[in-house]
Amino acid sequence: MKPTRVLFAGFAHETNTFSARKTGETAFRENGWYAGEEVYRLKDTNTGAGGVLTEANRMPGVEMLPVIETTATPGGLVTDQVFDLVTGLIEQAVSREQPDAIVLDLHGAMVTESEIDGDGAILRRVRAAAGPSTPIVAELDLHANVGPEMLLHATALIPYDTYPHVDNAERGAEALRLAVSTARGMVQPEMAHRRVPLAPAGPKQFSGVEPARSIMTRVHEIEEDPRVLTAGVCFAFPWADCPFAGMTVTVVTDGERELAQSLANELGDFIWARREEFRPSVLTVEEAIHAAMEEPEGPVVLADLGDNPGGGSAADGTALLWGLLDLGAPDAAFALIADPGVVGQALQTGIGGRLETELGGKTDDLHGYPIPIKATVVSLTDGRFIYDGPMLQGVNGFLGRTAVLRCEGRYGNHVDVIVCERRCQPLDTAIFRSQGIEPSEKRILGLKSAVHFRGSFTPIVKRILEVDTPGLTSIDFHRFPYKQLSRPIWPLDDI
Ligand SMILES: [Zn+2]
Repeated sequence: MKPTRVLFAGFAHETNTFSARKTGETAFRENGWYAGEEVYRLKDTNTGAGGVLTEANRMPGVEMLPVIETTATPGGLVTDQVFDLVTGLIEQAVSREQPDAIVLDLHGAMVTESEIDGDGAILRRVRAAAGPSTPIVAELDLHANVGPEMLLHATALIPYDTYPHVDNAERGAEALRLAVSTARGMVQPEMAHRRVPLAPAGPKQFSGVEPARSIMTRVHEIEEDPRVLTAGVCFAFPWADCPFAGMTVTVVTDGERELAQSLANELGDFIWARREEFRPSVLTVEEAIHAAMEEPEGPVVLADLGDNPGGGSAADGTALLWGLLDLGAPDAAFALIADPGVVGQALQTGIGGRLETELGGKTDDLHGYPIPIKATVVSLTDGRFIYDGPMLQGVNGFLGRTAVLRCEGRYGNHVDVIVCERRCQPLDTAIFRSQGIEPSEKRILGLKSAVHFRGSFTPIVKRILEVDTPGLTSIDFHRFPYKQLSRPIWPLDDI
């Protein structure tokens, strides 16, 4: 039997269009850039690439052609330079190899300097190189904003089912199986979609609570129909000023166009009817810290919703840290503040030395002010760690050079603050442990993460509180100057 040749490429970015800092080639290279055979280094990780490559090993007669896998920390517009470089590599490989099928690991919320539908532009160019009949299956993040060209050029879109995203490898494997069975003529995918004018904030997109839990149960019921190949919901990335930002349902059937559409409509209506349940219940900084201090046992997590670098924010926001220091929070640890200047000062000071400086709040005027600190340098590391929680397990993490500063609070309390050079979402307990802090022994943990931390932290924490802080991932959408977003959209508009 002739092998089925499958080309694989991953190029992913979640673009916060309100961020002034563009995302260029360096941001991708620093975060992980695997070219050609190097993609195999991701084989046993819980990533899309890991899932595709592991599944390819299990499937007889599949030959993989890995081209590239790269992703950058969410941030501002992707530059045309890196977009053309990476897309060009994929395009050239498709033209040269003329594969039987293509699997792409995308995010679905990429915006570039020139392309509002970045992922759609990748798919357009790959489709042009591959020709009309080659199946192209794209794995997406749950936070995709599905643009018109994505729907036009992909054979099927397969978003993650989970938030925190713990099924990345599973969905990659599913994308590969669908691409191969389509290439072999065993199925004929027909994809329908339905837009739902909702752009809810993170907390209630969490798969463990309503309405997300019931929505995904309904998706899996739909997938049990033998005529259905796959179904999914993109829950939207709201901090993107795009006409098509919002939730989108996709259903792919085996050759049954009308069935796909009626199931997508039905699922869309189900979601729309439950929109009020997406409204988050959050606390102010003061309320959250007082509530945490009243808990008899820790750790209590305080989620810094407004400054989640996993949604493109600065990671140097000071609102929550200021509260911890100034309101007397006992035995707290904070992950993290990205402030390369202060890391440099800590390196000069050395372990055990005293440092007085201004920390954080330096990127822009959206994330609080620099706060004066008096601190002891507790540790200094190269900032390398390996994720060991359910999300990104096995992947190498890199904070840049990192210091732990024990900052003095107003009432004799202290907060151990991880200060590092790079923006990184602290979604894994390994970040604390790599810096010599045992998170389970702390009373209070401040985290710059909205939901992803739940995968790794839930087993060790007593309570989780969501804090309404300012920043580029604020859940108060009225703070953002949307111009292109299609209106009305809930909850920005009261519909
Ligand atoms: Zn996501």
